[in-house]
Amino acid sequence: MQAALTDLRDPKGLTLGGVTPLSTTDWPGKLAAVVFLQGCPWRCGYCHNAGLQPRCAAATAPHWPDVLAMLTRRVGLLDGVVFSGGEPTLQRRLGDAVAEVRALGLQTGLHTAGIYPARLAALLPALDWVGFDLKTDLDDAAAYDALAGSHHSAAAVRRSLDALLASGVAYEIRTTYHPLLIGDAALLAMAQTLQDLGVTQWVLQRWQTNPEPAQQALAPAWHWPHAPLLQAVRKRVAGVLLR
Ligand code: SF4
Repeated sequence: MQAALTDLRDPKGLTLGGVTPLSTTDWPGKLAAVVFLQGCPWRCGYCHNAGLQPRCAAATAPHWPDVLAMLTRRVGLLDGVVFSGGEPTLQRRLGDAVAEVRALGLQTGLHTAGIYPARLAALLPALDWVGFDLKTDLDDAAAYDALAGSHHSAAAVRRSLDALLASGVAYEIRTTYHPLLIGDAALLAMAQTLQDLGVTQWVLQRWQTNPEPAQQALAPAWHWPHAPLLQAVRKRVAGVLLR
């Protein structure tokens, strides 16, 4: 039933959650519009876009043809468009939308948690930049699943990360950091993995609470990695940025 509703809302089957016409932060160094795609199969406790997790669109959601028309009017003002979510690769029509944006002469970016490696690999040739969400140590499958609220998450992310790094597409690896969610050993293991993969830049993002009681309980314990830990991390990945 929901698929039928979605199809009625947008004949191309692209289900949107919202649009930001201009952002200076979602694609570092670029003036970008951000198109939020509805739906994510994961349930990270710290998710700040929980309203985008369900696959069904809100009644007020924009339609892709209208958004594309808006983007067309902004050619010359924007560097590019970032497809975000939710998890944008959930939607199989994403590739069509990326191609339509490229046809306008705009650059294309993607935010992804690497949930669908094959879909990401297929998209990469049409992308100029990827913001890649790395949640915790890829070698600790249980911890990854616990953070993602899903199963078999680490294996998928590893395949996605390998595809991204092999593609030559510009990227930023980002991790939401809370010391109780990512322990010292896990943070060091992540740094080692990234070093082994040849990654030299890594953004640790400030964890922020949301209305979930379990997340609110974490708030008093939040802090950035202490100096010796950060020093050890930077010995492996020199370009660690706290954001
Ligand atoms: S992968 Fe991203 S959008 Fe999906 S639940 Fe986790 S934080 Fe939210």
